[in-house]
Amino acid sequence: MAAIDSAALNAIPLAPANRAPLAPEYPWPQGYKAAMFLSFDVDAETAWTAKDPARYGELVTMSYGGFEVRVGVPKLLEMLRQQELKATFFITGWSVEAHPAMCEAILKDGHEVGHHGFHHVMPIPGDPMLVEEVDRGLEVLKRRLGVVPKGYRAPSGESCEELRVLLKERGLIYSSSWRDDVRPYRHLLADGRPGLIELPVTMTYDDWLFGLSHRYSPRPMFEREHVLSIWKDELEETREWGGMVTTVLHPQCSGRPMRLKLLREFLEHARAYNDVWIATGEQIAAHFASCEAAG
Ligand SMILES: [Zn+2]
Repeated sequence: MAAIDSAALNAIPLAPANRAPLAPEYPWPQGYKAAMFLSFDVDAETAWTAKDPARYGELVTMSYGGFEVRVGVPKLLEMLRQQELKATFFITGWSVEAHPAMCEAILKDGHEVGHHGFHHVMPIPGDPMLVEEVDRGLEVLKRRLGVVPKGYRAPSGESCEELRVLLKERGLIYSSSWRDDVRPYRHLLADGRPGLIELPVTMTYDDWLFGLSHRYSPRPMFEREHVLSIWKDELEETREWGGMVTTVLHPQCSGRPMRLKLLREFLEHARAYNDVWIATGEQIAAHFASCEAAG
């Protein structure tokens, strides 16, 4: 085993990695007790090509991503119409180029479209690809869909200071990637400037963990009752706390028949509370910003 690099360890600042102040306890709008940020990550084939472009030639692997376009997204849109819910879809730029009709259908139903990188590449500090991923994503959303995104979700759930600064410079309003809270908060950049609003995520609602198995990420699938129990428990207690939950759902998983049934049941359960605000990221971030401005 390689020795631990003690010089590198000792170079780590003796300070928290996230120095943002604690989340303010703003009330939710219209008497709501808690919130749910209903969001989907539309990776399509980029979920599989980001780590190895040669996989584009592995057509069965690609078909996992292709399911989103052919079945997953249309079925989810139909279900959201039935439930009268609006959601946020974070879409990779590559997917917009390759599947414009799917993205137009999302917009046509009145959902929000957010930024999710171009090739779904994990940001590495100092790598020119980091800037390219953000700028190509912005360019294609504008050109193909006429969308200037307000929200950003980090591909592969990772970020760094360089990316935080870049997102602010490019005019993004909110990020939904961090795992460290149950309420929205304002990022604090390393230079002391305020950053984006964070709508934090929990792995509890990442469907990939429960329902998608592949030879590159083999895992047993969880049964519906098991996942529903986890999802309901997290929501129930978060509601008591007056917090928010964020879903990270992938149409290549939650667009499958069994998974869609599970999601529908969970959303019906959440709606039945009548005091959980099920909203898009744009709505939640705008609410936060208005509370912040009012002091
Ligand atoms: Zn993704």
